[in-house]
Amino acid sequence: MNALHLRSAACALLLGASAAAPAAPATLPGPAFPNFHSAAQIKSACDSGLVEAKKRVSALERRRVDGGWLAAYDAYYAFQEDTQYPIEFVLNVHPDTAVREAAQACALRWSEFNAGLAQNETLFRALKRMPTPDAIDRELQRVSLGGFEDSGVALPPAQRKRAKQILVRLSELEQQFSKNIRDANIKVSFSEAELKGVPEGVWKNAPRDAAGRVVLGVDYPSSGPVIQSAEDPAARERMWRAKNSEGGEANLKLLAEITGLRQTYAKLFGYNNFVDFNLRRRMAKDAGSAWAFLNEVKSKVGEREAADVQNLRQAKAKHLGTPLETTTLAAWDSSFYAERLRQERFAVDQEAFREYFPPQESLRFAMKVIERLMGVRYVQVPATLWHPEAQAFAVSDAATGKPLATLYVDLYPREGKYNHAAVWPLRSSSSLSGRTPTAALVVNFDRKGLTLGEVETLLHELGHAVHNNLSSTRYALQGGTSVMMDFVEAPSQMLEDWVYDKKVLKLMAEVCASCKPVPDALVDKAVAAKEFGKGMQYARQHLFASYDLALHGPELQDPLALWARMQGATPLGYVPGSMFPAGFGHIAGGYGAGYYGYLWSLVVAMDLRTAFSADKLDPAVGQRYRQELLGQGGQRPAPELVRAFLLRDSNSKAFFDYLNR
Ligand SMILES: [Zn+2]
Repeated sequence: MNALHLRSAACALLLGASAAAPAAPATLPGPAFPNFHSAAQIKSACDSGLVEAKKRVSALERRRVDGGWLAAYDAYYAFQEDTQYPIEFVLNVHPDTAVREAAQACALRWSEFNAGLAQNETLFRALKRMPTPDAIDRELQRVSLGGFEDSGVALPPAQRKRAKQILVRLSELEQQFSKNIRDANIKVSFSEAELKGVPEGVWKNAPRDAAGRVVLGVDYPSSGPVIQSAEDPAARERMWRAKNSEGGEANLKLLAEITGLRQTYAKLFGYNNFVDFNLRRRMAKDAGSAWAFLNEVKSKVGEREAADVQNLRQAKAKHLGTPLETTTLAAWDSSFYAERLRQERFAVDQEAFREYFPPQESLRFAMKVIERLMGVRYVQVPATLWHPEAQAFAVSDAATGKPLATLYVDLYPREGKYNHAAVWPLRSSSSLSGRTPTAALVVNFDRKGLTLGEVETLLHELGHAVHNNLSSTRYALQGGTSVMMDFVEAPSQMLEDWVYDKKVLKLMAEVCASCKPVPDALVDKAVAAKEFGKGMQYARQHLFASYDLALHGPELQDPLALWARMQGATPLGYVPGSMFPAGFGHIAGGYGAGYYGYLWSLVVAMDLRTAFSADKLDPAVGQRYRQELLGQGGQRPAPELVRAFLLRDSNSKAFFDYLNR
């Protein structure tokens, strides 16, 4: 999940610019962000938080199981959110290394505590027999019991003990897997001539080796541009091979042990494979339906992928002056020639967008989209946060002025800060206790401005924040993003498309009078360029998702042999010596047997978009979306939320129409 913040006081005036609306709240609806400033203070907050948590759990264990039990259980959860989450959040954003390290140590203590809590039999039994007067209570009971059962609480003692051992071992293995990638510190050296074509900003200030060659890491900001733009194929190949060996042999062994243990774990529950076990509480339900979906995707993109590869081969033959029949496309050629074709055919350069999208104004633009669509207002409120550039916003209902939520935004990169884009839900809504939600949005934007792709990222992340912020559930446990894993990305993926709509982009003028409007022709080019290469893009997602399912299937697989076989069957083939799965952190971690979820929720996202097809800013549709879907959080299973909003069952027509287009 993700987080965000912002700071200039001037923009608050623009953001709250609605003359007829009730006065904006001058304060944040939730508690102030804890002012962490030293490692000792984190340690002491951690100690006292865990002591208090133990006390509260035993009080809950002794509590009578009556009509108020669920509310008491939820109040415990809310306490834990307030105590544990801010510490886990600052380990990602705090500027002080000592504070981050203390927070990391505290996070480990909480995860041990939570492992014990998940097997707490007394709470499990209470949850089972407590009164459930209505559908919301029953849904919370059903989902919570599922969580307890998944951790083995209901198994016979021997298996239960084994389950706990496996969970502890799996978490060690997963941590070791990421550590091997983080600490590998792979470096690749290039002469300046070998870097011809690569933007200077990528390598000009990089360190040099004894021979004066540029030394680059394999992190995305370095490896991406080299593989995409270096004119020297040998330079691209060296970087590609380095990138595709991250994690190394050690991680292939770990991955084999991880998948083996996951299968053993599933067998404790009577399943012969981890996919069926893992999917049984998700939209997909089981391996059969996930595979059926992926096979349909494959049948729709296969031809297109072949055509894309053919286009790139032609581009390579033309570029090198070689006959087409003897020209083959290497793995390190595809993004290089795709980018060349994109620039040649569509004359679009993402860098050209930066001057139209200054970061602060882009944030205000994204908020304006949400304000217009969902009837809310964002007002900046001065607050002391984890960094002076972090910003706080109060979110309120535009019609009534009712305070709804708090949003923090952290826009710019700095050392030691989480380096991708994400939202952290810090507090969940509860109408029962009058609890308002809080989310933090964290991105790393260039101060010069955003590309259109980055504006898309901003709207995606704001989509997660809005899911938390506009939730109005009875229980915190069901707040906002507490939905099925293969649904949680859908509301964010839905909004990505909004930035390619000219009417939506015109809202930029309302938040920034001095910004030059982005030319329609530039947007047209970006839309056309986005369509290009769709076959290869979705075929790649299909390969990742189906590899993940196959790896976790009923028969244990050697991770590299399986990858070589599956990638070997694609038009680009497998490159001997490469070991992509060793760096595939998603499937070693929380996305194991769940990677298909990205494509699955995209189907739902595209279906949700159909309701906005006439007007992406229609406030009536936006209100219905807010009430029926976002506001409900996890109070109803995902398919029911979608049905309540679309007024029909969800289907995959919009997604497959898009693939066929
Ligand atoms: Zn997301």
